[in-house]
Amino acid sequence: MSGMRQRLVLLLILLVMTSVGQAQTGSTFTPAIGERPDVTQALAYLDATFDKHVAEWILLTEIPALSTHEQKRAAYVTAELKKIPGLEISTDPMGNVTAKRPGTGGPSAGSGQAGAIVLAAHMDTVHPLDTDLKVKRLPDGTLHAPGVFDNTASVANALQVLRAMDTAKIQTRGDLIFVFTVQEELGLKGMYYWMAHNPAPAMVVASDGPLGAVDYGALGIYWSKMKFTAPGAHTMNSRNQPHAARAAAQCITDIYSVQLPAANAAVPAIYNVGMMGGGTVVNAIAPEIWFTVDLRTIDPTLLKELDSQIMGKCQAAAKSFGVTFTREYIQQSEAGGRPETLASRLTHPIVKTPVDVLNYLGVTPLLNPSGSTDANVGVVKGIPSVSIGRTKGGNQHSLTEWAEIASEKTGAKQMLLILVSLAELK
Ligand SMILES: [Zn+2]
Repeated sequence: MSGMRQRLVLLLILLVMTSVGQAQTGSTFTPAIGERPDVTQALAYLDATFDKHVAEWILLTEIPALSTHEQKRAAYVTAELKKIPGLEISTDPMGNVTAKRPGTGGPSAGSGQAGAIVLAAHMDTVHPLDTDLKVKRLPDGTLHAPGVFDNTASVANALQVLRAMDTAKIQTRGDLIFVFTVQEELGLKGMYYWMAHNPAPAMVVASDGPLGAVDYGALGIYWSKMKFTAPGAHTMNSRNQPHAARAAAQCITDIYSVQLPAANAAVPAIYNVGMMGGGTVVNAIAPEIWFTVDLRTIDPTLLKELDSQIMGKCQAAAKSFGVTFTREYIQQSEAGGRPETLASRLTHPIVKTPVDVLNYLGVTPLLNPSGSTDANVGVVKGIPSVSIGRTKGGNQHSLTEWAEIASEKTGAKQMLLILVSLAELK
């Protein structure tokens, strides 16, 4: 027994050593890439043009781009892309703007991973069209305006990275496909559309979130509108009649009896009833009462299980009050998997390359098996996908949103080094 135990321990040590070895070879970035003349020239371009870069970032932030109203921002992006030679530019019916920078093809120099690499940056914001978007620049080196962080910083970085690669005549083996997406904030709708209408890329990199983030999973999110309808009746005749309000109230109470994993569980889950409404007059049974449910977890099985339990509560409540129940999805983003399911990603270039690039640039990488960005669409399709950060900043989705100016340059350098490493330099 003890001999077997010893062998087990040895085997474990070997396994750990092997995985460490793989972890070091999984990256397609090496410091030598950072020293190549073409890459050095591209990085120097980002340094030399940073004032213009920041001016464009401010200009872009001040163009309203509420989800589904991205057209003005898209027009600006398209006009700028047209000034960069060698790009194949298109706009799809959803409004996503795509700029393909063709690779040279040919045998892969490094890991054999070279294929089309998608960089996705969402153009939309959550801010209504009449929001004051004037950017305030403070002496502490920060910019303040709604949308300046999420995700205008990424859009500005992507444009500048394309210009830097053009100036330095960088050639990659794999195609680099920059997708400026729409409706990310409405459940990744633009990216879902793009992925459904284009050949599957080898890898997806989304730029979103704070600088240092390396999100390699996908948080599943279901937003449902639960509707209860009844014929209605005047209050005087309402006794024992089908009752939408009572059914909805019962259902909300019952939903909150659905058991969730502990708050500190390795794979948490959460739901919330955030909005409710209905009825037209005080003195009658409402013909329709509705409320919303926001359900989230990274575990696809748990997501389906919790969703069906919640649906069961609504169906039972509808039945006991004699009303009709229907569910409408406001958004349905699937879950990417539990950390153990995604463990192999940790040694894959899609994670190792951003980690090595961040370390090279002196930024601490923060790995996260969750994520709620355009990269989710790739994750759930089984395409190696990751979301990287753009700048330092905070208070996203609020009027006090801010971003640190200097970190925008680091974010751009990071994007450039990751993309040329994943697509492999010629
Ligand atoms: Zn975002």
